[in-house]
Amino acid sequence: MPTPADLPVLAKLSIWLAAGVPTAVAMEYWSRLLHGQVWHRWLWVMHASHHRPHAPGQRYEVNDLLSFTHAPIAIAAILYGCLGPVGPLREALFGFGLGMTLFGLSYIVVHDGLVHGRLPAAFLLRFRFFRRVRAAHEVHHRHGGVPYGLFRGPEELKAARRRGAPKGSRSASTEADAHGPIGSGAPEPM
Ligand SMILES: [Zn+2]
Ligand SMILES: [Zn+2]
Repeated sequence: MPTPADLPVLAKLSIWLAAGVPTAVAMEYWSRLLHGQVWHRWLWVMHASHHRPHAPGQRYEVNDLLSFTHAPIAIAAILYGCLGPVGPLREALFGFGLGMTLFGLSYIVVHDGLVHGRLPAAFLLRFRFFRRVRAAHEVHHRHGGVPYGLFRGPEELKAARRRGAPKGSRSASTEADAHGPIGSGAPEPM
């Protein structure tokens, strides 16, 4: 049986983009959901290590293990994209894997590098976008509530403020307190 002809390069590129870009965007919402509903609830026993001050000389956190949960999925998708049968599905899975990888790497650079200083990423502070992302994530660390997403953290905070939260709830105190330091000038206005 003759092997089916591979797709033209342009067709492959289009499929990679069509699958990869929405995947990278969706990962922000997926990671927000996991962070809020799973890390801060069922897996708090692991995630708490990210919210506690480090012991002197401590380089790693138990929470770092959670950062690797999606790598096997991305690797499997990319491998299928390289070795699977020729056709659009193979290219779509390749794009999907690339999108996940792009998000994962960006998350590590911005969250672990820029926000927590574990990698040399301070150069990103010259961009307002990243200053706002950092300020929003600092609110999460101060109060343990909203925002749970990273790149859209500033928008998540704004939406929470607009909505208002029921009195006494965890996100209510987060929201009320968030107005102080963030809005009062210190890091960057939202
Ligand atoms: Zn953090
Ligand atoms: Zn957290």
